Amino acid sequence: MNDIDMMMNRVFKKERAIVEKSKIFIERKDVSCEELQEEYTQLLDAYQSLLNESSKITKIGDINQRKLFDANSEVESQKEKLYKLSITDYLTGCYNRRYILEALEVEFMKSKRYSFSLSCILIDIDDFKRINDIYGHQVGDFTLKTVSEIIQDVIREVDVFGRYGGEEFLIILPNTQACDAAIVAEKVRKKIAQLKFETGSQEVGPFMLTLSLGISDTHSGNPKTVEELLCHTDKALYQAKDKHKNQYAIYP
Ligand code: GH3
Ligand code: MG
Ligand code: MG
Repeated sequence: MNDIDMMMNRVFKKERAIVEKSKIFIERKDVSCEELQEEYTQLLDAYQSLLNESSKITKIGDINQRKLFDANSEVESQKEKLYKLSITDYLTGCYNRRYILEALEVEFMKSKRYSFSLSCILIDIDDFKRINDIYGHQVGDFTLKTVSEIIQDVIREVDVFGRYGGEEFLIILPNTQACDAAIVAEKVRKKIAQLKFETGSQEVGPFMLTLSLGISDTHSGNPKTVEELLCHTDKALYQAKDKHKNQYAIYP
């Protein structure tokens, strides 16, 4: 039995004793007015002390309940933090590969069920290895972050965007045909191509960067699975690379 249980038992016992005592007193016929007054005062005192004890228990209960509530909220917020970590790319802060592939499965199913077109844009930074080689890995990392932020700025809220691999990103565009996805792809390409990336060094000035982008949708080639759709997107990306990079290509 814990402390609160013991306190409550004590209160209940006292309460029963008071009730019993007053019952006996009420049934007695030979009580004088003074005795009644005296008994009533004692009863009031006992009742007051009972109330005090009950309110103490309620306070302890409230504190415990609050502690329990705080503990639950903390667990809930930790759970949320862990979930966010598990779906976030550690470097860029955008969604990771695992999350976008899951999201793509969901969007793919929806597009099949409702016969909506779903588009994918696979983005690959051109000659990124050179950036690392010339300016170092830290600049490379910073460049990946910047590219990710710019893509995030361009896309709609309903689009899902994440890091697909090393220097590759994927945008999922629900309810969009490839020709409309091409508008987004071109916007992203242009924005990056116009930007001066800082090296963080005074001796070496800023550098420029280009992207190649592959686009495919669920109408062209009628992909039956997400893997097939991604394979089409990848093929389109390689077409863009083959045509001297810094451009988008649409499958087929
Ligand atoms: P291409 O135009 O054909 O795409 O050439 P590329 O150099 O971009 O492609 P390649 O696949 O040869 O090289 C990709 C480079 O991306 C190599 C790898 O070191 C770099 N990379 C991948 N992940 C990261 C990362 O997290 N940080 C940095 N700094 N570099 C990365
Ligand atoms: Mg690549
Ligand atoms: Mg590349």
